[in-house]
Amino acid sequence: SKIMFQLAFEMIETIKKAGFQAYVVGGAVRDYLLNKEVNDIDIASSATPTQIQEIFDQVIPVGIEHGTVIVRYKHQSFEVTTFRSEQGYSDYRRPDRVTFVNSITDDLARRDFTINAIAMTEDSVLVDPFDGQADLASKMIKAVGNPVERFTEDPLRMLRAIRFVSQLNFNLDRNTWEEIKNNAALIEKLSIERITVEIEKMFLGKALKKAIDYCYQARLFSHLPIFKPKENMIDHILTVEQPFIELIDLFVYLTIITNEEITINQWCQAYKLSNKAKNSGESLKHLIQLYKHEQLSRQLVYHLPSELDDRFISLIQRVYQHSVSQAMIDQIRRQLPITNRREIKMNGHDLQLLYPGKPRGEWIRDYLTSIEEQIIDGSLENDFEKIKEWILKCHPPVNN
Ligand code: ATP
Ligand code: MG
Repeated sequence: SKIMFQLAFEMIETIKKAGFQAYVVGGAVRDYLLNKEVNDIDIASSATPTQIQEIFDQVIPVGIEHGTVIVRYKHQSFEVTTFRSEQGYSDYRRPDRVTFVNSITDDLARRDFTINAIAMTEDSVLVDPFDGQADLASKMIKAVGNPVERFTEDPLRMLRAIRFVSQLNFNLDRNTWEEIKNNAALIEKLSIERITVEIEKMFLGKALKKAIDYCYQARLFSHLPIFKPKENMIDHILTVEQPFIELIDLFVYLTIITNEEITINQWCQAYKLSNKAKNSGESLKHLIQLYKHEQLSRQLVYHLPSELDDRFISLIQRVYQHSVSQAMIDQIRRQLPITNRREIKMNGHDLQLLYPGKPRGEWIRDYLTSIEEQIIDGSLENDFEKIKEWILKCHPPVNN
């Protein structure tokens, strides 16, 4: 992260030599001042995207119309955005056409919170017109300017305020908080993609409990998909103590503890989550329910992909208050005779040969499943002859 700042400073010098102003801005400055790891650095500049393209060799035009490009510099990526003033979101989804401005102060004025509205020069001098440093010191999330105006311009800022509470363990400034309570209903106008980004960060944040409290008091969840028609779901969120590993895990948790008739797929559609999230959510839901009947059985561990271990452990703790350890899972996993179906010494083709004349069908998969179960339990050896003997005994061929 030190190297990233070094490179950003070099870029700023290059931009300045070309006759423009440039500063490090936004989350990078905030996190640097909080002594946190900084991964991506945003630069604000008086140069337009076209001018930036003339200065650097590798420029990716990601959002030219909003003044944003990505510059590849010494194998790293930096977002460079032209100074601009407040852009309304009159459709609450996409920013309106932007107006470029000449000073960094005007650019900082359009930013959401004072702690996100600090700029830094290449000599590490801060430009801080809204006294973001004081709010960093007192751990306050405070809107830049008039909170009512800022939240009506872009209601997403209300969710962003609370996700920063969660990530940083900060508090909301009094006026900012009052106006979130007054304007909560406006979040219904936002696109779900923008909402999902913020609530995901919120539910992963270390001060999640505090963030949930704010959301509950402002009745924010009542304006979000699925929660809106299912008010009782909201009370269950209050039982959450620990941050989640992925957003979908919250939905798995709520589905199980509320017993609501709602599928993981419905959550994923409502919040536009990826197929990958959906698949992992469905597996976890199934495994958590299986645990209720057979605890940490061999069958369960066999069906638990190791990349879901930590999320499984965390959900078991939440749903059943059981402490399953990684060591317990590993121990059972080591005892498993096979790790997947392809390791069974008999396949579907072999089975068909054992039952000549029996038409293809579901039975092949069903037989393989019962063979698999026997092998996992250790009651059947994974050996072709042994499997053959066992399956023929269970399902004697019908002679005609
Ligand atoms: P993170 O570490 O989560 O990326 P961040 O502060 O960098 O936090 P981004 O969403 O990447 O957050 O936005 C970068 C900067 O752009 C913010 O610090 C803020 O100054 C400004 N910003 C982002 N979204 C908004 C918004 N909706 N309204 C006003 N300013 C915003
Ligand atoms: Mg960022």
